[in-house]
Amino acid sequence: MSVLSRVRRFISPGDEPAVVVECRQCGTTLEASRDRCPECGSDDVVATVID
Ligand SMILES: [Zn+2]
Repeated sequence: MSVLSRVRRFISPGDEPAVVVECRQCGTTLEASRDRCPECGSDDVVATVID
């Protein structure tokens, strides 16, 4: 499976772009609305928009 097809699987069928939020401390994937990691308590998170 190519990298591109793996990325495409994250794209939602609607108009809203897919957002992935990940903790930079422990790597946990968070809900898009969160800005603090529930696992380690860090607010050092990064949001990536996939459109
Ligand atoms: Zn964390």
